[in-house]
Amino acid sequence: MTFASNTLRSVVELCDHGLAPRKKLGELEAVAARYAVAITPTLAELVDPGDPHDPIARQFVPDGRELEQMREESSDPIGDDAHSPVDGIVHRYPDRVLLKLVNACAVYCRFCFRREMVGPGRGGLSPAAVTNALDYIRDHSQIWEVILTGGDPLVLSASRLKDVMVRLSSIAHVKVVRVHTRVPVAAPESVTNALVRALRTDKATFVVLHANHSRELGAKARAACARLVDAGIPMLSQSVLLRGVNDDSESLGALMRALVECRIKPYYLHHADLAPGTAHLRTSIAEGQALMRALHGRHSGLCQPAYVLDIPGGYGKSPIGPNYLSADGSRITDFNGGCHRYPQPD
Ligand code: SF4
Repeated sequence: MTFASNTLRSVVELCDHGLAPRKKLGELEAVAARYAVAITPTLAELVDPGDPHDPIARQFVPDGRELEQMREESSDPIGDDAHSPVDGIVHRYPDRVLLKLVNACAVYCRFCFRREMVGPGRGGLSPAAVTNALDYIRDHSQIWEVILTGGDPLVLSASRLKDVMVRLSSIAHVKVVRVHTRVPVAAPESVTNALVRALRTDKATFVVLHANHSRELGAKARAACARLVDAGIPMLSQSVLLRGVNDDSESLGALMRALVECRIKPYYLHHADLAPGTAHLRTSIAEGQALMRALHGRHSGLCQPAYVLDIPGGYGKSPIGPNYLSADGSRITDFNGGCHRYPQPD
């Protein structure tokens, strides 16, 4: 791991840097005793300590409400465990698997749906478990795509990442590798030339950046993304719809535009999962649909992600965006809200 030395981990450090109110120290320490806490200097620098509603701080600074668990919340809200045939693999859809190499991240997001599983010192797959997971992929010829996730796979050293990428590249039926990461915004200096080279094999490799607010895409993050894209690695994004972070049309639109300006195609807007202690960060689906309508009305087609819900229990993702077509297909709504007849074939 490369982050232990430069990551603000304790709530005392957060208070000392003005990122959290010292008068709440006891409450924040109780949260930190239950869930991992970390923010990198790059993201800490983006926080306005004078703004009690700062959208960057809200994502990483613990909140006492995280100790309130709702009945509908679960430690495994999207049902990974029910689809894990061997350590490190989640095989939910026929043609693709998740490969979870590591349980550590550069930062710990307060809304993480794997918050019970990730944290410093949680380790990752042993070399034998990595071999076992790769053998599972090799033995299942229907697996077309492998998604490296975690934890954050880009906290691994370039040499460990290269080893896995090369071994995946030797599996003929795997055609696509997707890498889910927050490192380019959280620790852009870690996107080194060696790391970029490690990701390049003969497979189609996509890096999917997790970013939730346009301010995360500062100059260093943009440069890190440019290193990946300039090396021929296409980038997509995933964002989580979060109350107080991006749940207004200006913030969400600015985020999507910033991503596209970095040559990153917005891919998913996730409705926040039912992770424990995260109710204060979730919106309703109706609010999400209204925001998607606003995006559609005001921004380029390049700025439109798919709004999706991971169905609790492990049933996979479904699109939950607004519908513009009437049930019988005879009327369609335009981007201004106007309604129009559409002739159906006899
Ligand atoms: S980087 Fe991803 S896996 Fe890690 S805490 Fe944030 S959401 Fe969870």
